[in-house]
Amino acid sequence: MTVVGLDDTDSRERGMCTTYVAAQIAKRLRREGNTVSRLLLVRLNPAVEYKTRGNAALAIHTDANPDYAFALARERLESLAETADERTNPGLVVTGDGLDAVADDVSEFTRAAIRDHLQIRDATELLERRGYRSWHTGDGRGRIGALAAVGAWNALEEWTHEHISYRAPDQWGTPREVDRESVFEAADRGYPAVWDTVDRGEGETVCVPHTPGPILYGIRGDDPDAVRDVADRIAGEPVDSSQSFVTNQGTDVHLRDGTLESVTDGRAYRVNGVVASAPETRRGGHVFVALEGDRGESPDDNDTDDGDTDDGDRDDGDPERLECAAFEPTKRFRDRVRALRVGDRITACGEVARGTLKLEKFAVRELVTTERVTPTCPDCERTMESAGRGQGYRCRDCGTRAEGKTERPLERDLETGWYEVPPCARRHIAKPLVRGGFDAPTHPER
Ligand code: ATP
Repeated sequence: MTVVGLDDTDSRERGMCTTYVAAQIAKRLRREGNTVSRLLLVRLNPAVEYKTRGNAALAIHTDANPDYAFALARERLESLAETADERTNPGLVVTGDGLDAVADDVSEFTRAAIRDHLQIRDATELLERRGYRSWHTGDGRGRIGALAAVGAWNALEEWTHEHISYRAPDQWGTPREVDRESVFEAADRGYPAVWDTVDRGEGETVCVPHTPGPILYGIRGDDPDAVRDVADRIAGEPVDSSQSFVTNQGTDVHLRDGTLESVTDGRAYRVNGVVASAPETRRGGHVFVALEGDRGESPDDNDTDDGDTDDGDRDDGDPERLECAAFEPTKRFRDRVRALRVGDRITACGEVARGTLKLEKFAVRELVTTERVTPTCPDCERTMESAGRGQGYRCRDCGTRAEGKTERPLERDLETGWYEVPPCARRHIAKPLVRGGFDAPTHPER
């Protein structure tokens, strides 16, 4: 078995797509009588700054001669990669030792490429140690993704599928002709085995990209036959070629369990916390909410009730805080975040950048069901006023006193369980709730 890893061929402005280059290499290998057992589409750390879009790397598993596969892949990369863009730095890694011989340090490298940041030196040292064939242009960064793609099959356990239909090269850069109705119909037919084809809430065909590259549409799901079937049902301009990929998309493999104290920029986490500030909508429609560590109190118990009328006052130390954000493109998900209340216990998931966790999904673990409010005078029905620090409240009109705040039931628009961004805002690697396997009830978006 020969494993061919490749990465970094496309340019944001000029187009191209590494899945297309891999599909072209696979097509040539098959045409020349070789067997191609699978193509892997591996999503690496979405926080990496060098990425063009989705930080994808590709691997081809074939019985072709490794020297021949290397020469062919190099020729295809040289001819197709958009190297006129100085940020495109293609890399190629080939081993003829077979999948069983892919060593643990290569699998470890793949896992690090998904969850962490690597240096070009990390790749070159490992390539040398393993004696793999490699080639690159530019600064050679593409070898990081190419090597990570080679290690992926042994490194990961959970796989999903994507069937990509490509446009004829003379169509690239022109508006795509895809029949919307057929996309929605096919998506309904394939759901829930096939997901993120459309966003019904936004009325968007999310499987059709807007970029200048060769993809007409990509259909994702749990089952290889189901994704192909949905792709076949879509009407539109002629499909020039198509290819199925096995992929780590939709698996959440980028998330690591963390704590509020331990999170660092450029990594993605699953963290538990208590909502510590009322959700706030800022300029641009972005919604922010702060989390603090769970101090073991009941969520209804967080009022010091010292006569100070400010709710949510915390004066005992400075617990670790983490700001979480639901940005404008996450659309209706922001209403879920706005529905959070101080004291709710949640698990938040997402990438941390500049100290802020960009929410991809969250689980409500425990909801605050009552709120403590300034008492109302039973006689005058007016809101009482603070009688001074630690003095309780007093009615300004009749002087009636109350010792502290009163409790009243709080209507909640949230239930316990998982909430997620809609399909139009999903990161490739993030797991849609419809896939199941979560530790609480789910509220899937579709
Ligand atoms: P393409 O379709 O060309 O693959 P992309 O959005 O997937 O587009 P790339 O153009 O591949 O992004 O750019 C990502 C670059 O970052 C590649 O050179 C890849 O080797 C490198 N890279 C990927 N993961 C990491 C990581 N964890 N640490 C450092 N560099 C990384």
